[in-house]
Amino acid sequence: MQKIESVSELLTRINGLKLNGKSIGLVPTMGALHEGHKALVDQSVKDNDVTVVTIFVNPIQFNNREDLLKYPKTLVEDLVLLKSWGTALVFVPDEADMYPKKPLIKLDFGKITEVLEGKFRPGHFTGVGIVVMKFFNLVKPDKAYFGLKDFQQYLIIKELADTFLIPVKIVGISTQRTASGLAISSRNRNLSEKGLQIASNIFKGLNMAKELILDKMSIDHTIQSTRQFYRQVEGLEIEYFEILDPDTLDTTENTRSQPLLLSVAGYVENIRLIDNLYLQPD
Ligand code: AMP
Repeated sequence: MQKIESVSELLTRINGLKLNGKSIGLVPTMGALHEGHKALVDQSVKDNDVTVVTIFVNPIQFNNREDLLKYPKTLVEDLVLLKSWGTALVFVPDEADMYPKKPLIKLDFGKITEVLEGKFRPGHFTGVGIVVMKFFNLVKPDKAYFGLKDFQQYLIIKELADTFLIPVKIVGISTQRTASGLAISSRNRNLSEKGLQIASNIFKGLNMAKELILDKMSIDHTIQSTRQFYRQVEGLEIEYFEILDPDTLDTTENTRSQPLLLSVAGYVENIRLIDNLYLQPD
């Protein structure tokens, strides 16, 4: 596995791979790697000649400075894991190389970022969009892998690739969970044992909502009951729980002829966690 730290070196290496006709898979991450990231890397290694993983905690996607400072960093362990997962190339740029100047451009994804994360983290998706666009331009991947845990992010990346005709296939990978159902996240490292236990209720709530919908309860009632469930969990502070159309992120009536997205964000021990459940139609 080769570790590259500068943009110019990465460009040279990618040019070489392209000249040799190698297919390239890209897995962008912020490090503190875990089994969730592994699922993305595994799929990329399967699909492509060469897998490029990026590790970069992108400052411009954090609207909260404390959240950025608290973000876990475990580079030494990350490199060991990436090598064992079959990564060919890891790109670990520094901020000055990625942002030689502060970008003036803002990306506005319209109504798909007026809800969920976009609503509660102003500027987050413009930051995600800009950094992923940079990675697309540098790595020129055939395929790029994103987790469905961050469902809204997956949607905006697809929008980005479609709008700018970027010749990349966006692949969504299903959410990896611990035995308790908690979505695996780098942020879980900042939780105590007790916190992890409390956080497992996030997935419990999603499952409860799913059961209610399968039992033909209306969307409105399901939302109210699930929010009520979350309210009574001590130590869990829910920011939002919504049920939306996964294509448009519009609110929806329960027809069950369409897929549904159940989406939640909240805080445990001051750590912000999110989860999503995609419900197939009947
Ligand atoms: P992050 O390092 O948290 O920015 O995540 C990098 C990529 O891994 C994103 O596409 C995430 O959606 C994905 N990811 C993070 N956690 C999981 C998980 N538990 N299951 C599947 N994908 C994940």
